[in-house]
Amino acid sequence: MKTKIVALTLFAALCMSLCSCGKVEKSTQTALLLDTIVSVTCYGEGSDEAANAAIDEIKRIEAIFSPYIETSEIYNINHNAHSAPVKVTDEVMSVLKEALRICALTDGAFDITIKPLVDLWNIKAENPSVPSPDAIAEAKSKVDWTKVELSDGTVRLGAEGMMLDLGGAAKGYAADCAVKVIRDHGIKDAILDLGGNVYAMGSSEKGSPWRIGLQDPDGKRGEYFKAEELSDLSCVTSGSYERYFESGGRIYHHIINPKTGYCADEGLISVSVIGKSSFEADMLSTAIFVMGAEEFEKIKDNFDIVKYIIVDKTNNWKAY
Ligand code: AMP
Ligand code: MG
Repeated sequence: MKTKIVALTLFAALCMSLCSCGKVEKSTQTALLLDTIVSVTCYGEGSDEAANAAIDEIKRIEAIFSPYIETSEIYNINHNAHSAPVKVTDEVMSVLKEALRICALTDGAFDITIKPLVDLWNIKAENPSVPSPDAIAEAKSKVDWTKVELSDGTVRLGAEGMMLDLGGAAKGYAADCAVKVIRDHGIKDAILDLGGNVYAMGSSEKGSPWRIGLQDPDGKRGEYFKAEELSDLSCVTSGSYERYFESGGRIYHHIINPKTGYCADEGLISVSVIGKSSFEADMLSTAIFVMGAEEFEKIKDNFDIVKYIIVDKTNNWKAY
């Protein structure tokens, strides 16, 4: 199985670290969190404390939202919220509310109850294989965001075997939280990369906006097909090249169409969304991948995004 965990890479950030003029205080911290490589670089006085605090914040988010950590709130919901409602913190409640808003607006192209299908396809396994149509139908029957009931600080999952997976949202949410922590430390200029969820704060050392390269889906890691200038904006990419396996001459990747139970096949190989909220951009990059640009254009005005860029299977890109 070929696994690539790549997406946006920051050529601007790399250039800065290589040719730093040594005047501005700077600190880069990296960690393996949320199933990806996280890197935070802060500039200015107190950058070291700020970057470390940002990493701690992302750890905190992972501890709450990972479905694999047995003490997490999501794990608790997934294992106990079928028979009776489970009490959750205000933070989990507000994240689930916002995620369900996206599920509704995208008519379930984005669906936080995707876990039974994610588990069945098990794309991260040593040797993944294509499940049987019966198994796919069975898992698909447990995926339905409309059966997530939120009330009075509690969550209930209205179908047996239903489980939440915030894999298409948590990195974005964590990026936004980390940005707040960095701002609270008085830092204006920083660049965060959570495995393809980039947040560019303020400006680069040159005083100009950050230049972020969009990974060429067909190219080697670090090869870009386009650069975007960002300041206080996030850019999030969902790509079928990130995690996939091949079987019978076909590619099976990690973004699933909840309506078919198979991986999304709207002719796209990459979707990048730019906006103020990394959380929203993260969910929408996944949703657009599933529904395609044409359908998304009809609902675009509901969201606070600056633009999005798609790459189709013939490796042509288009910005909207
Ligand atoms: P991303 O790379 O942000 O597009 O997120 C992909 C991850 O989100 C997958 O690894 C799954 O954990 C989850 N996922 C896959 N398909 C969907 C979907 N249709 N809706 C919501 N989450 C999904
Ligand atoms: Mg996403």
